Amino acid sequence: MTTPSVQCDLCGCDNLEIISQSDRHQQALDTGLCLGCGLVMHVPVPSEAEVNEYYASRYRQDYHGESQPSERRIMRAWKNAERIHAQLKPALNGVDTVFEVGAGIGCTVKKFETEGFKATGIEPNHDFNAFTRQSLFANVDNVNLFDLEQTPKTDLLLLIHVIEHFSSPRKALTHMRELIHDDGLLYVECPNVTGPFATYDRMFHYAHIYNFSPKTLQASVEQCGFKLVECFSNDDDPDLHMLFKKCDVPKAAVVSADHADWVRARIKQHNVLSYHARPSYLSKRVRKVSSYLMEYMKAKDFVADLLGRLKKADS
Ligand SMILES: [Zn+2]
Repeated sequence: MTTPSVQCDLCGCDNLEIISQSDRHQQALDTGLCLGCGLVMHVPVPSEAEVNEYYASRYRQDYHGESQPSERRIMRAWKNAERIHAQLKPALNGVDTVFEVGAGIGCTVKKFETEGFKATGIEPNHDFNAFTRQSLFANVDNVNLFDLEQTPKTDLLLLIHVIEHFSSPRKALTHMRELIHDDGLLYVECPNVTGPFATYDRMFHYAHIYNFSPKTLQASVEQCGFKLVECFSNDDDPDLHMLFKKCDVPKAAVVSADHADWVRARIKQHNVLSYHARPSYLSKRVRKVSSYLMEYMKAKDFVADLLGRLKKADS
């Protein structure tokens, strides 16, 4: 089945094949594969206003109006921030300022600050902002990306599990490029739709408007005026981790139509049975369940210790 109603954000082609008609909760959601380049996206792509409306109502529903994230969430976010800092550290010579778009509760901004960087960020949701500023002491403002003036302000821009949520990654990346100093860096993380991270029938959901392969992520970022410096992930990882450098905007994007066939084959390779029959699945699952329990017990102490240290450092 094809539909001409969407123009691909990456290659501009309107030849999309519908590859799924339901989301991970079996609700109706059409997902299209661009036959011009292999980018996977909602059909139709929701507008920015629709995306904002979704987050305004959905976010409250997910957290029941809580103003403080759970200890497990904080511990995970902090450990993730430590992993990101360690991964990027060898490439950060000359980097002084760090700016995160979609900073969440603010752990990554704070981690980079504790490592000596001038670190700030923006986060459109305000539910956890009091916690971010008063308990983490992180410099994260409630500002929408497109409301930021387009003047260079950072040596390194972080985009962690954010690019898949934009109505147009091209528009967002073009805007963000202007916030980065010449020769500055852009670090992007997002799910890998061609990695075996989920079974096919649980793969898609509304919040992820775009689903990237390693190639379509690289091409989407590079066509907006960046060059890949290092890819920390491989084709089978559940998430993509890529570091780019700001450069001139290329005249034409290089994408291959053959890539759509590769993306389709990778997405469909894990049906429910083969996914759960993977030799590593069961042992991984057992480890995961026991680590959840350990994590729950450990998180309380971890967060009390962390917030105590940050408070001491701030006073
Ligand atoms: Zn395309």
